[in-house]
Amino acid sequence: MADAAPPSKSRDLDKLLLRPGNLVGPTFDPGVQLRDDLQEYVKVLVVGAGGLGCELLKDLALSGFKNLEVIDMDRIEVSNLNRQFLFRISIGLNLDCLSLVLKRNSVIMGPMGRLEDVGKPKAEVAAKRVMERVSGVNIVPHFCRIEDKDIEFYSDFNIIALGLDSIEARSYINAVACSFLEYDFDDNPREETMKPMVDGGTEGFKGHARVIVPGVTPCFECTIWLFPPQVKFPLCTLAETPRNAAHCIEYAHLIKWDEVHRGKAFDPDNGDHMKWVYDEAVKRAELFGIPGVTYSLTQGVVKNIIPAIASTNAIVSAACALETLKIASGCSKTLSNYLTYNGVEGLHSKVTQFVKDKDCLVCGPGVLIELDTTVTLQKFINMLEEHPKLLISKASITYHGKNLYMQAPPVLEEMTRSNLNLPLYDLMDKIPKDILHATGTINKDNKKSSGLKKLRVVFKGIDGVTDMDLAGGA
Ligand SMILES: [Zn+2]
Repeated sequence: MADAAPPSKSRDLDKLLLRPGNLVGPTFDPGVQLRDDLQEYVKVLVVGAGGLGCELLKDLALSGFKNLEVIDMDRIEVSNLNRQFLFRISIGLNLDCLSLVLKRNSVIMGPMGRLEDVGKPKAEVAAKRVMERVSGVNIVPHFCRIEDKDIEFYSDFNIIALGLDSIEARSYINAVACSFLEYDFDDNPREETMKPMVDGGTEGFKGHARVIVPGVTPCFECTIWLFPPQVKFPLCTLAETPRNAAHCIEYAHLIKWDEVHRGKAFDPDNGDHMKWVYDEAVKRAELFGIPGVTYSLTQGVVKNIIPAIASTNAIVSAACALETLKIASGCSKTLSNYLTYNGVEGLHSKVTQFVKDKDCLVCGPGVLIELDTTVTLQKFINMLEEHPKLLISKASITYHGKNLYMQAPPVLEEMTRSNLNLPLYDLMDKIPKDILHATGTINKDNKKSSGLKKLRVVFKGIDGVTDMDLAGGA
């Protein structure tokens, strides 16, 4: 064909973005403009540059996003060279990956492996490698903790994609993204303030991908029960009726070790200790006719290690990248709202539509606090510690991005200290009702964690605020 168009890198993307379709979202406006705007203006933040984060970064770059940033606080370690190898896969060296899968426990790098990366920040190396392989993409790495960035940093992105393995980190980013959400006087979320998130997670052969649109879908905190506490086996099961290999291993680890070693602490990093537990677990398994006790399973159960499976990361990441593209372009309806993937036996995947918790402290309209206009900032901060729905101590308070009081760093604390004795009403420019944000230590169920809360402050006795406003929580 003489005048066939030259092959384009965005050929597949064009099929999605340049044509109308029956599955498109309500705001979808196909055409070259959409594709170009998407590439030029949409900014996506990838949180985490581990196994999943690297996959995500690569997938988003290949999906046509040109403005990416990645944040991760870790350095590449020899002990997690498997992550390093995941990262190598993430830029397309599939043959290397295959050979490294076989060798990954023995810290041997393949012909293309780069030990030189050990000790370098994951975010920086990941950004560099993806940029080397995908032309035209710009990736800005941030080698720091997610808490080190101020809230304005996060407000800059259209979509936040999470490739994390920690519940705490997810919870933090979720709170940050939800803090941008504003409600109108009828408690309806304002669309222009929604900061969508796409969250991926993997654990061995299982994984999930979910879309979080604050105010529309449940946020991470609305469905925190999806992450139950670590299951512990009842001791009686271990002692009397073991039913699987893990029970036999835990019997050797928790019961037999103490019986035999009397007071000597088990050290999971001691190879002799681990071998002893393994040998005992094998004996126990033989006694009850239970198959499946291996040395690596023993390590996994005792150290609570769940192996990272590259294919799970790849599948979950692909789902997340597609959802990111759908949110940014409207080229198809987004996932509603939680996809689970299970590859343990065969393959099973399912989409569940979870519902929002309307009282959610994070994505809901906020905790309503009524105050007199005379209450000082110091007194307000003290109140937060006592408030049954908050229990937030050492709170730092921001008002529309302005620091009213910061507990840290010392230089900011000093700068904002004089506000403590001023009435909060004055600090809020005498606005009768508005949203404040408090960050601090949340004491819940005898556990301390850092958190960010949304407070809807209403001052009593001000014109324009009626009893109905207070009662209805407008
Ligand atoms: Zn929520």
